[in-house]
Amino acid sequence: MKHNFGAGPSILPKEVFQEASEAVLDYEQSGLSILEISHRSKAFEAVIQEAELLVRELLNIPEGYSVLFLQGGASQQFAMVPMNLMPQFGKAAYLDSGVWATKAIKEGQKFGTIDVVASSKDSNYTFVPQGYVIPDDAAYFHYTANNTIYGTELFETPLSPIPLVSDMSSDILSRQINVADYGLIYAGAQKNMGPAGVTLVIVKNDLLGKTGRDLPSIFDYRKHADAGSLYNTPPVFAIYVAMLNLRWLKNKGGVAVMEQENIIKARTLYEEIDRNPLFKGTAKVANRSRMNVTFVMEDPSLEKEFLALAEERGLVGIKGHRSVGGFRASIYNALSISSINVLVDTMQEFADKHANK
Ligand SMILES: *Cc1c(COP(=O)(O)O)cnc(C)c1O
Repeated sequence: MKHNFGAGPSILPKEVFQEASEAVLDYEQSGLSILEISHRSKAFEAVIQEAELLVRELLNIPEGYSVLFLQGGASQQFAMVPMNLMPQFGKAAYLDSGVWATKAIKEGQKFGTIDVVASSKDSNYTFVPQGYVIPDDAAYFHYTANNTIYGTELFETPLSPIPLVSDMSSDILSRQINVADYGLIYAGAQKNMGPAGVTLVIVKNDLLGKTGRDLPSIFDYRKHADAGSLYNTPPVFAIYVAMLNLRWLKNKGGVAVMEQENIIKARTLYEEIDRNPLFKGTAKVANRSRMNVTFVMEDPSLEKEFLALAEERGLVGIKGHRSVGGFRASIYNALSISSINVLVDTMQEFADKHANK
C-alpha cells in the first residue's frame, strides 16, 4: 500500500478514483463515457451545477458571489486578478510570503503598480510576515493563505481596508473560512479539491467591471460568470472528479469536521518532528501549515537513507522542495491519519536504528 504525501497533483479518496474510473467506461449507464459527452448536455449540466452547489454549501458562500470553474491553474489567476480588479494605471498591495506570492507579484506588475507590504524572503520564507500596513488607496490586497513550498499558513484573515484576494490553492476546503471577508478567492484544484485542470474562483460580483480595461473575453470573469463557467468548453472530466470529491467531503461531515481531522493529523506529525532527535521543523511554529509539513534532519547526511526507508514503507512524495530541502509531507484532506501514523512510525524506527549505533 502507498501513502501519497505528494504536494500536487495529490491524493484523492480511493472512492473518488473508483467512481471516476467507472464513469470513464460508462457514465451512469448512458452507454457513453464521461470523456465523450457534450459540455452542453443535460448530464454535464447536472454535474457542474452540483459542483457549484457543493462549493457554495461547503464554504457557506453568501449571496452576491460567483463561483467559477476555470482553466489555466492558479498561475493564470496571478494575471487574471490584476486584469479584472486593478484599474488601468492603478495600484494593488501584495504580501510576499513565498515563491507563489512572488510570481503573483510579478504578473501584477505587468498591469499596474504593486506595493509589496512585507516580505519574509530574507529568511527563506520560514514565517508569514506580520505587522504591515495595507494601503487604503490600493485596489485590493493579495496574500497566499498557505505557502505550499515552505509549509507556512496564515490562519487569521488579515484585517484590510480594501478587498481581500487570497490564493488558497493548497488549503481551500481544509478549514472554515468566512467568504464574506474576501473579494476574491482562487485555488488550483489539484492540491485539495480535485485533479489538475480546473481552477476554482469565488468572486464578489460588485468588484467586477470597474477597471476601464478592455479584456479579452477568455480572461474576463464576467464572461465566465454570465455563462455559468460554460463560456467555452470547460475541463469536463476535471470538474466531474472535483464534484465527486466535494460529495465525499460533504458525506464526511463537511469542512468543520475535516478541519478537526486536519488539526489532529498535523499535530500528530509536528509532535513527532519536535520529539524525534533526528528531525527538526523548518517553519516558525506559530505559522506551521496544516497542509504541508516541512522538516529537515539535524544531520543532513542521513536524509538519503531516511528517504530510502520511507520508500520501503510505501511513503511517497515526501522529498522536500528544492528551495527548502529535507522533507515535505503534504497532508491534504484525503490523506488519512493512518498514513500519518505510518510516517511517524518510520521516523521512530529510523531514530531507534541510529540511537543504537
Ligand atoms: C501549486 C500552487 C500554485 C500554482 O498552481 P498551478 O495550478 O500549477 O498554476 C499557486 N499557488 C499556490 C499556493 C500553490 O500551491
